[in-house]
Amino acid sequence: MATSTKSTGRKTTSPKAKSTSSPVKKTSATKTPARKVLAKKDAAKELIDLFEDGLKDIYWAEKALTKALPKMEKNAEDKKLKSAIANHLAETQNHVTRLEQCFSALGKKAQAKKCDAMQGLLDEGKSIMEETQPGAVRDAGIIAASQKVEHYEIATYGTLAAYAKVLKQNQCLKILLKTLEEEKKCNDLLTGIADTALNKRAMK
Ligand code: FE
Ligand code: FE
Repeated sequence: MATSTKSTGRKTTSPKAKSTSSPVKKTSATKTPARKVLAKKDAAKELIDLFEDGLKDIYWAEKALTKALPKMEKNAEDKKLKSAIANHLAETQNHVTRLEQCFSALGKKAQAKKCDAMQGLLDEGKSIMEETQPGAVRDAGIIAASQKVEHYEIATYGTLAAYAKVLKQNQCLKILLKTLEEEKKCNDLLTGIADTALNKRAMK
């Protein structure tokens, strides 16, 4: 009895297993084979080049933030949020100066290169403000947009600090870690503001 049930069980499960493993549907991703990207003429060859390119990117981004943050502060209504943004604007101005110190430690002139990622995040921040009524909901949107910016900065400074460590650029490493800490603190502060007040008020 036991043997026959066991054998029928096996017979019924095997065709089922076959039917689920149907051939993969061809999508545009499977039709077009992935190709190696051709490098530009001035593409980075060494890690130090990639490090310098990263510094140019974040230098542009920090400068763009010094222009964007006052708009965010003006549009925010929550007092704690307004003061957090104002405080971070002062820090951001220091981030710009620190990056200039980084370039000078490398014996390079400070140079900004447009950061498409930050431009996208700032565009999104502008859209959020346009798509929300002033008050608690817009404040919640401003926090969301700001945290995306902070996360981008945390990722960037974390990566650049790791490069500086490997490259033994100790002066740069010290500078980058200082800014990284401020970005993390700002992000935590924004989380606190959102958790304590805004999300609850926005749901009303
Ligand atoms: Fe910054
Ligand atoms: Fe920041």
